[in-house]
Amino acid sequence: MKITDHIKNAKGESLFSFEIVPPVKGQSIQKLYDNIDPLMEFKPPFIDVTTSREEYVYIDKGNGLLERKMTRMRPGTVGICAALMHKYNVDPVPHVLCGGFTREETEYVLVDCHYLGIDNVVALRGDSMKHESQFVPVKGGNNYAVDLVNQISQLNKGHFLVDTIDTPYTPDFCVGVAGYPEKHFEAPSLQSDLQRLKEKVDAGADYVVTQMFFDNNKYFDFVAAARAMGVMVPIIPGIKPIAVERHLQILPKVFSLDLPLELEKSVLDCKGDKSAIRQVGIDWAILQSKELIAAGVPTVHYYSMGKSDNIVKIAQEVF
Ligand code: FAD
Repeated sequence: MKITDHIKNAKGESLFSFEIVPPVKGQSIQKLYDNIDPLMEFKPPFIDVTTSREEYVYIDKGNGLLERKMTRMRPGTVGICAALMHKYNVDPVPHVLCGGFTREETEYVLVDCHYLGIDNVVALRGDSMKHESQFVPVKGGNNYAVDLVNQISQLNKGHFLVDTIDTPYTPDFCVGVAGYPEKHFEAPSLQSDLQRLKEKVDAGADYVVTQMFFDNNKYFDFVAAARAMGVMVPIIPGIKPIAVERHLQILPKVFSLDLPLELEKSVLDCKGDKSAIRQVGIDWAILQSKELIAAGVPTVHYYSMGKSDNIVKIAQEVF
């Protein structure tokens, strides 16, 4: 079922959903299931599955030389989506990237999703590769998320890349896109980033999922500004509980966001006590979630990034 239909069917009640990251190549999928199992009690209607970009790895040749090889460390997004449907009877939402894929390869991924009965995808540009200073699409790849949304909208009409197929069996993907309450780090201003968001929605995006934020006012202001600009689709807030002290440095750097002083102080007051820090993150996310639900958000979407014990504790208090 489409995410937008799940939201409609909930009749104003906020849903619980989360995002998972495929395991590193060679690891058992059981570890992933062990983290998902306790979350199923809270009846997520959908689970997002991220896609990772290719990256360079260096293989020790044993003679003092290193060989550089390109690989994808966390493959299997579509396979995991199929496994989740089968095991949990839930709607999986694969993330589809511009970066690292030609438009042709993207079409094949979408065709696979269609055959599997996947109704939703999140269309993203992806980040630059680690050695690149800015995002560079592969030859024949989509440049911005809006181009990918356009490709999916065209496919929904039966317009494949090289031919139009007159058939009733075209996909009808519900498309999610990313939004940034604190601005995407490359955007010259929040206003211009919002204009880019509007372009994605005008191209056919059905809903928005936000980057994580730790101050709900950032989300509320973002939604108000997006509405003022004519972005009327559901805007799903993304929440990540702080889990370790180094998140104080990593999260602002990687996701270009601010952490409230009070949250930073609470983490530092734990003086390195790991479980106390994890609890601070849980308590903060509970407060955020309760306020968001009181404001009538469609879904609270959690970034689980591996271990889910903290999300379980949050969900127990909130849902
Ligand atoms: P875009 O919407 O294309 O925007 C990228 C930048 O370009 C912005 O600064 C925007 O303002 C600007 N821009 C957009 N259109 C134009 C234009 N026409 N001309 C000039 N500038 C333009 N990354 C992954 O690798 N895998 C994932 O699974 C993944 N999942 C994510 C899920 C969510 C909910 C979010 C919020 C992010 C996720 N990301 C993921 C990270 C994302 O790929 C990066 O943030 C990336 O840098 C931007 O992606 P985007 O889709 O927002 O890009």
